[in-house]
Amino acid sequence: MTLMETDTRSKIQLPSSLLQATEPIQALLETASLYLHIPFCHTRCHYCDFNTFAGRLPLREPYVRALLQEIEMAGSMARHENGHRRRSRTIFLGGGTPSLLTVDQITRLLQACFQSFAVDDNAEITMEANPGTLNQEQLIGIRKAGINRLSMGAQSFDAQLLKTLGRIHTPEEIVQAVQHARTAGFTSINIDFMFGLPDQTMQHWQETLKRALELRPEHLSLYSLIVEEGTPFHDWVNEGSIIPGDEDLCADMYEYADELLRQAGYVNYEISNWSLPGYHSRHNLTYWQNLPYIGMGTGAASSFAGRRFSNEREPTEYIKMIKAHRLPTVESEKVGPEQAMSETAFLGLRTAMGLHLPTFEERFGIPFSRFVGDRLQPVEEAGLLEHEDGWLRLSARGRLLGNEVFVRLLPD
Ligand code: SF4
Repeated sequence: MTLMETDTRSKIQLPSSLLQATEPIQALLETASLYLHIPFCHTRCHYCDFNTFAGRLPLREPYVRALLQEIEMAGSMARHENGHRRRSRTIFLGGGTPSLLTVDQITRLLQACFQSFAVDDNAEITMEANPGTLNQEQLIGIRKAGINRLSMGAQSFDAQLLKTLGRIHTPEEIVQAVQHARTAGFTSINIDFMFGLPDQTMQHWQETLKRALELRPEHLSLYSLIVEEGTPFHDWVNEGSIIPGDEDLCADMYEYADELLRQAGYVNYEISNWSLPGYHSRHNLTYWQNLPYIGMGTGAASSFAGRRFSNEREPTEYIKMIKAHRLPTVESEKVGPEQAMSETAFLGLRTAMGLHLPTFEERFGIPFSRFVGDRLQPVEEAGLLEHEDGWLRLSARGRLLGNEVFVRLLPD
């Protein structure tokens, strides 16, 4: 059984704030969500393949200076023809470990975003943080600087599993970090946990979820372990020294979590994400709705003005490029209308709410039925899709066999 196979609900209960577009699509297409990448960590976790570097902490200040310059360059590039600054609804500081920056560095980065972009007064401004890298004073400082949502990488409440993962924090530090964040005034907190870990039993998972719910975070992201090439975990799995959880156990863990979180009032609005009503991640919805975003910093990706582009990944090289007043873009491709339509449909169908067909037509100027032709007919006939009030989404059976649907949406 795969993860998708566990999801057998026939109807999805979603808060109306998610189902209804909050703004016309044409207005949303004129905005750009901002992502700032901070590529530093104390040590590399054993499963991590993100673009992040251990042992480079002295580079933090030169890196922040380069990032400030890139924010200014990106702001100019994204300005409207009339010279007005581009509107931003969300900012996300990700990594790496952004909580390794000082309050002053974070404040300067946010100020630069506020100067170069027209950031909404009620923008969602998230920072990723790792327990063990946060103290009360720092949390008060970043809240004051404008961060209003924290996303914490906790991964497990089991001390031994944290060691296996190569995490630097203890279970107690997770609790402490959340308590400090509450005291500092954070009312929107996400916590990430992982399942399918080597030697993780169902009992470990139940205990982790129980302790997570005691903290009552507004949002939870639950990911199954993916063993990526080039990581210590990959080598250890190949050697046979660790064995990740099998598919059946992962499916049971997912199902258990989904049921427990639903009973606790959370909504599963995307396969790996649950939130209390109104606390879904607006930034992540930008990606799933295929709306424009501008990524800055090493390796950051952007999707803006009909192009997709990404930055130099290595910090020293990135800093050099910025110092030479060069844009740090290393890859760029044009996204034509066919591709944009395919991707919008594909990403929409991966979410619990599905694809809103009137919005698709308003965005691309043609009905979804004309774009897709008869390509979806076999999967419609097989009952993999369902329609409801203008929404097209995977049926319970479709969630088991999502790839059958997705491949039909790819451009020829
Ligand atoms: S803290 Fe996060 S980004 Fe850093 S090494 Fe661990 S998993 Fe990777």
